[in-house]
This record gives sequence, C-alpha cells and structure tokens, in this order.
Amino acid sequence: MPGKMMRKENLPTKTCAACGRPFAWRKKWARDWDNVRFCSDRCRGQKAGKGPGKG
Ligand SMILES: [Zn+2]
Repeated sequence: MPGKMMRKENLPTKTCAACGRPFAWRKKWARDWDNVRFCSDRCRGQKAGKGPGKG
C-alpha cells in the first residue's frame, strides 16, 4: 500500500522560546497554534532581563 502511515501522534511540534525545549501541539492551542511560542504559561510569563545572558 503506497502512502504514508498516519499516526495519531503525528502532532506538530515547536521549540519553546523561553526554555528551548520541544513541545507538541495541544488542543487548547488549536486556534492559537500559530502564535504559540512557549511550552507553558510559566515560560510565557518569563520576562527578558532576569536569567542567563544579558537583557
Ligand atoms: Zn518552555
């Protein structure tokens, strides 16, 4: 059978802009996935300035 196997886990993934870890699509992001940049609210709440590197 030609074609690709469609797996249920075939979800899109992104890399968190705050912690740099990959994360997978979530239903709660269904309508906002394009704008999602962080793996969690915690990362989203991180402000530049504190932490490694110079802000
Ligand atoms: Zn993160």
